[in-house]
Amino acid sequence: MHSLDDLFQRLSHSPFRQRFKLGSAEYQYCLSKGDEVIRQHATDFISARLAPAEPPNDGRQTPMRGHPVFIAQHATATCCRSCLYKWHGVNQHQEMTAEQQARAIAAILRWLHQEMQRPAPPAKPANRNTPVCKKSRPPSRSSLICCE
Ligand SMILES: [Zn+2]
Repeated sequence: MHSLDDLFQRLSHSPFRQRFKLGSAEYQYCLSKGDEVIRQHATDFISARLAPAEPPNDGRQTPMRGHPVFIAQHATATCCRSCLYKWHGVNQHQEMTAEQQARAIAAILRWLHQEMQRPAPPAKPANRNTPVCKKSRPPSRSSLICCE
């Protein structure tokens, strides 16, 4: 198993992974919830959505937005079992071990800590916060699924 330093080094060479950044809402969410809550959410997401031998909707189980941990999962390739295999050497079709889950969570938290070192992203203008219907979402965004 490679160190997280190696992993972050490799991730830094992936334009796909580098695209993921915390938005203003996710940044503020991290600030307001604090480390322990975020760690608990990451633990819950990994154990429910990634750890089973055959996770439901594998490859689509991690949304592209809506929670800072989701973004961190895409950025650290802990988003689906095929990325976990390619980037972390976690075998597919087997339940993740406790160590493998702990490592995925550690990668997510490290990435979030890194992001939180940056200045807060600017808040979006108020009119962009109004809910948008599916139709108005750019197709490239909603069809952007894992991965590389
Ligand atoms: Zn993935």
